[in-house]
Amino acid sequence: MDILELTENINKVQSNILASCRRCGRTDNVLLVGASKTMEQDIIDMVDCNKLLSVLGENRVQELLAKYKEGQSFEWHFIGKLQTNKVKYIVDKVTLIHSVDSLALAKEIDKQSKKHDKVMPVLLQINMGKEESKSGFFIEEIENAILDIQSLDNVKIEGLMAVMPICDKENTIKLFEQLKAKWCELKDKYNFKYLSAGMTNDYELAIEFADANIVRIGTAIFGKRSYDGNI
Ligand SMILES: *Cc1c(COP(=O)(O)O)cnc(C)c1O
Repeated sequence: MDILELTENINKVQSNILASCRRCGRTDNVLLVGASKTMEQDIIDMVDCNKLLSVLGENRVQELLAKYKEGQSFEWHFIGKLQTNKVKYIVDKVTLIHSVDSLALAKEIDKQSKKHDKVMPVLLQINMGKEESKSGFFIEEIENAILDIQSLDNVKIEGLMAVMPICDKENTIKLFEQLKAKWCELKDKYNFKYLSAGMTNDYELAIEFADANIVRIGTAIFGKRSYDGNI
């Protein structure tokens, strides 16, 4: 992957994002997060030096720590399964945690953020397909989770993140519409900013049918991964 290919991929994704917004009459911004898992340091440095993306997301603490350098031109988001015992390594390095999936995790983020005198912005993760292999709250449980977590002083819920089951286009659209209904209800009630949904295979649908305003894209930007991490 060279700089030309990387730039071209990013431009293509950005123009697809704009086209999706146009199709459904949206004029607000959609934030593109580059999901950089398994990418080598030279790729990260290329993004950094050329200011190709404003945010990169990692789903493993160890990989984030390896790639993190002070003064990088982009921000880091944490987007994957976060174990409570690893929260302390990342609270001072990331600007948004997408993947809060339990009260216990939120409490640990609160505790560690307090030590840094920081209020950590987070999203609560919804498991849209109710899959056992994936974490996250069920959509029916999400409001109770919000009520529990919003009382923590050093955590600020900025919105929701969805993980989707692998299914055909028709069912993906159905789930995104279900997500959108919940999102519309909750964002006004709790003054939320972000809905993070959509990956390489479904980001255009997430923008059009769920009103997602953060998409997390790996493959379409960085190419196919030779090995894969769990989401
Ligand atoms: C890897 C990953 C992505 C990006 O997946 P692609 O299909 O390669 O775009 C998005 N979100 C999470 C949580 C991931 O782990």
